[in-house]
Amino acid sequence: MSDPWGEVERKVSNVRFYLGVDVGGTKIQASLVEGSGTVVGREKVSTPRNVGPDQVVAEVERAMEVVVKAKGLQLRDLTAIGIAVPGVVDPEAGRVVVTPNMNLDGVAIGTRIRDRYKVPVALGNDCNLGALGEAWLGAARNAKSMMSILVGTGIGGGFVRNGKLWRGAREAAGEIGHIVMQIGGPQCGCGNHGCFEALASRSAIERDLRAGVAAGRKTVLTEMVKGDLSVIRSGALRDALAAGDELVTEVISRASETLGYACLTVRHLIDPEVIVLGGGLIGACSGFIMPIVERIIENDRLPGARKGGHVFLSALGDDAVVLGAVALARIQVGRNPFHKEHVVAAKYPQVAWQRFGEVTVQQKTYARDVYLLVDGSVKKRKKSLAKQSYGDSHMVGPEELEKVCKGGPEIVFVGTGESNHLSLNEDAQRFLRQRSIQCESLPTPKAVEAYNKSARRKAALLHVTC
Ligand SMILES: [Zn+2]
Repeated sequence: MSDPWGEVERKVSNVRFYLGVDVGGTKIQASLVEGSGTVVGREKVSTPRNVGPDQVVAEVERAMEVVVKAKGLQLRDLTAIGIAVPGVVDPEAGRVVVTPNMNLDGVAIGTRIRDRYKVPVALGNDCNLGALGEAWLGAARNAKSMMSILVGTGIGGGFVRNGKLWRGAREAAGEIGHIVMQIGGPQCGCGNHGCFEALASRSAIERDLRAGVAAGRKTVLTEMVKGDLSVIRSGALRDALAAGDELVTEVISRASETLGYACLTVRHLIDPEVIVLGGGLIGACSGFIMPIVERIIENDRLPGARKGGHVFLSALGDDAVVLGAVALARIQVGRNPFHKEHVVAAKYPQVAWQRFGEVTVQQKTYARDVYLLVDGSVKKRKKSLAKQSYGDSHMVGPEELEKVCKGGPEIVFVGTGESNHLSLNEDAQRFLRQRSIQCESLPTPKAVEAYNKSARRKAALLHVTC
């Protein structure tokens, strides 16, 4: 593939580094990523408000410099940079066309950063790139075609087929948030009425909750947010659902149904192999939302459509967009990660089982249970999570898997102790299934062996001592 910026050979100690940058309305995230997709550094800062575009770009550059320097590198050591922006972009010109929620309209952010640091820069829409990230390393890693739907303040999406983003004739494809789902419905930020986003985004949910409260309905949220219902975090919504709050349950049920019918529309329109749901609201409330979406999908009566469009949850979470940006950057410099010859294997530590009660990871001995994460790091197991939820540290639930599977491994090895002490409960199995993460449960010595042998993107939970 030709590279419009002219590729410069860059390699630092045989590892190529890329930067994925997610420039959002509220935060800027810059992640340093190896060619394998392993994230080796992160910098997250707030997006400056009420300032000109120059200051926003300066803050982006500052975040990029911080994360690169922390690894002892410089920006010119990078092979390429991928930048995601919430809006329409002109990738050839390295320019933002329009960003409804930010002050970057018409700014040539890609060209500017390329010229300043002399590194190739790829520019894309954030939701499109989130889809590309999930297609590369996330829940859609094994699918030939996928559509992702991200639900947050707004709703966006992206369609990827055979490792290629469908960007549309005018770079405006994937705007699933603006399909009209209720003719004459509430007005959307885009100006139209009854858009999916105006019915099911977190902002739409906030609006409906405020209307409910104004009409005299009671909700636990009023106390939780101390009377300020202007911005309600996804976590607060999850807690209100867990408390069985009637108003919140009613409003989110309706939003979830709308999401379910949007999935049905996607299936009928493009019949992707996989649909991936992500974004803050779904991340926080998936336990409530997914059964509603699944019920609607299962009740599809259109002949021929019933088998396809399996719905997964995002496996990459916050990393989906930055990894998609890196994938786009790699494609632009002729190192397409979807092409076999350019797949780079991630590096992992060697693990050794010493005896019951002792495991060694990269020469360091642990006399306790450990998590081996997808980026190769080691974390001490939080047995308290299991004890709190199940009164028994030998039961593994979704709370723990969320920690073990951070960053979206393809497979997770569970070492169950010398003779199967540890087990995954039903919610844990569902957690893995919903993210398309494979699991192998084996006695710890065998699990260590299988872990060392596996060449895939992997993680592990090792029960070492009781
Ligand atoms: Zn709209």
